[in-house]
Amino acid sequence: MPNIATKHSLDLKKPQPLKRGALRVTPLGGLGDVGRNMTLFEHKGKLVVVDCGVLFPEETQPGIDVILPDFTPLRDRLKDVEAIVLTHGHEDHIGGVPYLLKERPDIPLVGSKLTLAFITAKLQEHKITPITHEVAAGDHHQAGPFDLEFVAVNHSIPDGLAVALRTSAGLVLHTGDFKMDQFPMDKRITDLNHFARLGDEGVDLFMTDSTNAEVPGFTTAEKDLGAAIDRVFREAPKRIVVSSFASHVHRIQQVLDTAHKHGRKVAFVGRSMVRNMGIASDLGYLNIPKGLVVDLKQLSKMQDNKIVLICTGSQGEPMAALSRMANREHIIKVGEGDTILLASSLIPGNENAIYGVINSLIRWGATVVHKGNAKVHVSGHASAGELTYCYNIVKPKNVLPVHGEWRHLTANADLAIATGVPEDRVLVVEDGVVVDLDRGRASIAGRIPAPYVFVDGATIGVATEDALKDRLSLAEEGHITVLGIYDLATQKLVEPVEFIPRGFVEAVGWEDQAEDVAAKALEQATARGHVDGEAAERAIEDGLSRWFFRRHRRTPVITTVVIDAD
Ligand SMILES: [Zn+2]
Repeated sequence: MPNIATKHSLDLKKPQPLKRGALRVTPLGGLGDVGRNMTLFEHKGKLVVVDCGVLFPEETQPGIDVILPDFTPLRDRLKDVEAIVLTHGHEDHIGGVPYLLKERPDIPLVGSKLTLAFITAKLQEHKITPITHEVAAGDHHQAGPFDLEFVAVNHSIPDGLAVALRTSAGLVLHTGDFKMDQFPMDKRITDLNHFARLGDEGVDLFMTDSTNAEVPGFTTAEKDLGAAIDRVFREAPKRIVVSSFASHVHRIQQVLDTAHKHGRKVAFVGRSMVRNMGIASDLGYLNIPKGLVVDLKQLSKMQDNKIVLICTGSQGEPMAALSRMANREHIIKVGEGDTILLASSLIPGNENAIYGVINSLIRWGATVVHKGNAKVHVSGHASAGELTYCYNIVKPKNVLPVHGEWRHLTANADLAIATGVPEDRVLVVEDGVVVDLDRGRASIAGRIPAPYVFVDGATIGVATEDALKDRLSLAEEGHITVLGIYDLATQKLVEPVEFIPRGFVEAVGWEDQAEDVAAKALEQATARGHVDGEAAERAIEDGLSRWFFRRHRRTPVITTVVIDAD
């Protein structure tokens, strides 16, 4: 068994101050979830942050836009942060940067050309101009006591980098997200030679992507999708709408090439898609054949079978173009004969939203091609076979699986152990569990809180469980306002309470019964002693809540307002 920080170790204490010369690793996100990746490295009083991403909310978190890591552990040490290293440009690795830079705008961002271009464009929308240090594979960058070295990795976005952090406490290799496509579109493969050189030097702690650790074998090459995409184009009688992540440059390159071959024109739809594809093409990561891409407005003059639209929304995000098309809220009205190609993954947690969108599109008469019915997606992450190779090449002394839910982290740990890493040198931990590397040995040092920080519109805050529970009750059970006029002197209601229900599914005659329940609850309270206005509200609320649950198995949110009779 690896050294698992299971639920039993929830009572882990706050860690002791870091030993001199040791290295502290604190995951603030990405361990236990797929998203909001962020890790803090501390050495000699200085900090380096690797990635700062967002997590997208699930249905149980209604109204939440994104979820951030909690920056509290950084807050009074912002001046000690030497750099934020960004391994690649995916939202779950860069999406939190604007929020962190709001706390200290001049923390240098270190990353590859494309990664920095994506984050800089995003920061512009937040009116922040970052300090950036561009690095390429093979480069070193000194950040305080950290010597950072960058390694080319292949992923579902170009220009990904793994980062090696060299300190006097040892050498850490953090892969970021990666896979080992041997025939990538851009011919930039994961540099196993470089991994091997670091392995020969001695990797003290290997932090590696767990997302696909449960998947046996090897991840299929991106270019193998070509045939399935071509088939969609051959068979589509009318318009083709392709939905993908706005950063999946290689996938979109394949779509562009196929559209060009079939004599269609392409329009990008949606702010992030237009922005990112503009950047990728300007910087030479996306090759757009001349005259292929046109403005959305120009498409209205063209025949349906000459049109391709490329948009976002492949995860069923309600505000994205595809969801709006499915709901008929978009200028593009999907209809009979149109073909929708979801050239994308299905991130755990998004299933219901995506299938909802697919069903709507089919109801409008469209044909929907997705990974469930055609080979139109390959993962961006290394499967078990690739990870095994990596362990054998890197020969790490200690292993800390990152990026994934518990099942992914433990599957990755098992692979490390299978290649001969001693079980007690493999640490499976979740966000907030602090790991110290001291004299070649990694061990769990304690735990700090790593709660979700919810962004709701322009509000950022630590939403409590209760607040979200209230939201769910409101959505599921509705709300009832109870109005009463109460005579403090006589300790009685002047007249029966009134109800204003909102979104509450009413049973016939409930109000008469509920009136009696409210009156009785108040009577019982006054029988025990003097009851002021506030206590009267509480008594009525409690009485009604109990009654609704007992009689109707319902838990509407109840707000009681009692007005003084004078
Ligand atoms: Zn990624």
